[in-house]
Amino acid sequence: HDTDINPKTDILYRYFLHFLLASLVLLISSWCNELLVIFFCVFCRKVKYLNLKGSLLDEHTVRGLSKAGKEVVLTAKNIVIATGGRPKYPTEIPGAVEHGITSDDIFWLEKSPGKTLVVGASYVALECAGFLTGIGLDATVMVRSDALRGFDRQMAGLVTDYMEAYGTRFVWRSVPKRVDRLPLGTLQVTWSDTETGREHRDTYDSVLWAVGESFCWSFPNGHLGLGPERSLPHSNCTQ
Ligand SMILES: Cc1cc2nc3c(=O)[nH]c(=O)nc-3n(C[C@H](O)[C@H](O)[C@H](O)COP(=O)(O)OP(=O)(O)OC[C@H]3O[C@@H](n4cnc5c(N)ncnc54)[C@H](O)[C@@H]3O)c2cc1C
Repeated sequence: HDTDINPKTDILYRYFLHFLLASLVLLISSWCNELLVIFFCVFCRKVKYLNLKGSLLDEHTVRGLSKAGKEVVLTAKNIVIATGGRPKYPTEIPGAVEHGITSDDIFWLEKSPGKTLVVGASYVALECAGFLTGIGLDATVMVRSDALRGFDRQMAGLVTDYMEAYGTRFVWRSVPKRVDRLPLGTLQVTWSDTETGREHRDTYDSVLWAVGESFCWSFPNGHLGLGPERSLPHSNCTQ
């Protein structure tokens, strides 16, 4: 494969980002009602908006830290945690963190990702590979077992058949072993075929990990004082 970034696809990528921005504006205007409600709630002072990074001190106390390092302690009878997740990196694979990106990064790149390997076969992986193919990039999905595991098998097959027909490449039953940056800047990915055990290599401009999310929460002592049977998993956000 030619690993040079094609100026045509680079321009297409920029158009794609503009399109994304325009779609976002449209989406936001379609959410106007909800936004108006939020706006009035916030400005009628019924809801306080605090731009702080929160951490839980105990089941009724949150410590908020501003960017400038100012600390605020808040207490409440009930605390709802809605901190979402952040894409995970497979830290056990050499080169994965140093050279890889995630679905959060792909929308903020300043230049085209070029020839891209997407590792993972969830809807996030397929969506990313699908739009990269759609704007003319060489996109490959590396699948450990089945694509869209947990979804209807017939539908999953239709999706991947369609994607293959449209130009997305699939490397089935394979797991990445390492990622190395070559002297010319491209990334060499080594992977092994889980059926034959054989090792393979190819070079890419970008490697996108779509291997799941870590939840952005961690609790003092790993639980919220809810008792062991109701304690929540303790996990650190990767960021
Ligand atoms: C590529 C992609 C495509 C997707 N497509 C779809 C789709 O088509 N349909 C669909 O339904 N879903 C889709 N999803 C999933 C959807 O985006 C998530 O399920 C949804 O955003 C989860 O919402 P949330 O509010 O739980 O978390 P988030 O949207 O992640 O929001 C969490 C918020 O908490 C904040 N936060 C985190 N930690 C702290 C802290 N310590 N203090 C203060 N604030 C904090 C974060 O900054 C963020 O603003 C997609 C996801 C991806 C990645």
